[in-house]
Amino acid sequence: MFELPECATLVRQMNQTLRGKTVHRGRLGNSPHKFVWYNRSRPEFERLTAGKKVGEAAARGRWMFVPLEPGYVLALGECGGRLLYHQPQVRRPEQYHLLVEFDDSSSLSLTTQMWGAMELFEQGKEQERKYVKDMRSTPVDKGFTFQYFSGLIDELLQGQRRSVKALLTQEQSIPGLGNSLAQDIMFRAGLHPRRPLAELTRAERRKLYQAIVSAVREATAKGGRCDELDLFGRPGGYERIMCSETAGQPCPECGAKIEKQAYLGGTCYFCPKCQQ
Ligand SMILES: [Zn+2]
Repeated sequence: MFELPECATLVRQMNQTLRGKTVHRGRLGNSPHKFVWYNRSRPEFERLTAGKKVGEAAARGRWMFVPLEPGYVLALGECGGRLLYHQPQVRRPEQYHLLVEFDDSSSLSLTTQMWGAMELFEQGKEQERKYVKDMRSTPVDKGFTFQYFSGLIDELLQGQRRSVKALLTQEQSIPGLGNSLAQDIMFRAGLHPRRPLAELTRAERRKLYQAIVSAVREATAKGGRCDELDLFGRPGGYERIMCSETAGQPCPECGAKIEKQAYLGGTCYFCPKCQQ
């Protein structure tokens, strides 16, 4: 699943590689998949994208927006899997959920793993889409200050019991984060995944805030996580600290054995000593 660092990396690479290219033919998937969300029929998508020029793409949370000018924006949201650029003459995947061929014979394909939106909007309308319209501040937004973050925790705690993991991975309270990066954030903050949010001291809130911002920045600067691929099929440079690969291994801080536990719809990896 692409999280914010992967989306930011893919967008940066699309801007270097695709910007200014003209669409020859846009095709929706040939590989049926129940959880791929389209908002156009195949002929409609093909007709509306033909001849359009790729503008400057942008990432927001787990969404990527690629302008097809004039007049349209391709929104790729909540995807995982592979978003790949193919040079002319290079073999493309046989199965895909989206294939955009350009008039220089290069192309872009997207094959998502779990689910994902691949929708074409009239320019501006993408901002009205459910989940985009009401998206809260993401960790790279100017508005994502400690004051905002602390206020968000207070708001989420009204009448609700929540854990640290719930804050990081549920309901996109912090858009762009997912179960992967959340593990490292909780380790950096020294907080157990099940720790009730209501118990956090001000100093712990601050530590968690700093862990979110620094993990997202570092993973973005390194081109995303090492278990995800970039636009050119290369793995990212961010090595995860707490993941299936390190479970059972010694914690890099204290040497205790890294534990694995299923919790809130996903596996948690944590250090029983460093994360209280
Ligand atoms: Zn430890």
